[in-house]
Amino acid sequence: MPKISKKAAQEILYWAKRAYGAKMVPGTSGNISLLCPVTKTDSAMLLSASGVCLGDMEARDIAVLNSEGKVLNNVKPSSEKLMHLEIYKKRPDIKAIIHIHCPYATSFAVCHKEMNEPILPEFIYNFGTAQAGAAIDNATNIDNKALRGIPSAKYALPSSIELAQEVSEYFKAGNNAVLMENHGLVAGAPTLKAAFYILESIQAYAKTYFAAKFLGEIHTLNEEEVLKIKNLKG
Ligand code: 13P
Ligand code: ZN
Repeated sequence: MPKISKKAAQEILYWAKRAYGAKMVPGTSGNISLLCPVTKTDSAMLLSASGVCLGDMEARDIAVLNSEGKVLNNVKPSSEKLMHLEIYKKRPDIKAIIHIHCPYATSFAVCHKEMNEPILPEFIYNFGTAQAGAAIDNATNIDNKALRGIPSAKYALPSSIELAQEVSEYFKAGNNAVLMENHGLVAGAPTLKAAFYILESIQAYAKTYFAAKFLGEIHTLNEEEVLKIKNLKG
């Protein structure tokens, strides 16, 4: 069993509680993982135990796995361990993953509706929109793999290798967050803090969208405004 730093364990517990506090993981839903370097070339994966409430998670609820997915301690890992492993395999820059069942964002996944309407500049800047992606491609005549909001991965059985493959392909294409049809949402980033912020801003988009729909007519930003926002990145 590799030596795991106390700091890594504390970090995973801290962000698990933040996710529960932000109402992202009701009950025992969702899971969280963090890569922890053990040698210059290999990392262990710290992953929440299966069936644990992230709000009540303790150090004894952290499973330790090697890069092939073999469990190295006596803790039953999350049933979504294949999804976490596949994302890490396909995106070496990602070191932390949080999977959530936040009701507002999950509603989009239930309706098989991607999140890509140009309604909020901050969201467009971070995640793109359908329209901006297409406009950039048209302007250059190539597929720029420009981000087009939060895509929705086809439904597959929770915990299955099919789900892991469906979802991880979107990460391979450059997305840092993906909806999972009839299930939830997953984000990956270099740190748990960054993954949490991604999820929080997607959750805010979902809530804003619902409230705006209820309140009146949704005004979307036009293509010119969208491109100006994308160009802020330089
Ligand atoms: P685990 O408790 O096994 O992590 O399952 C929760 C979940 O969200 C499955 O998709
Ligand atoms: Zn789930």
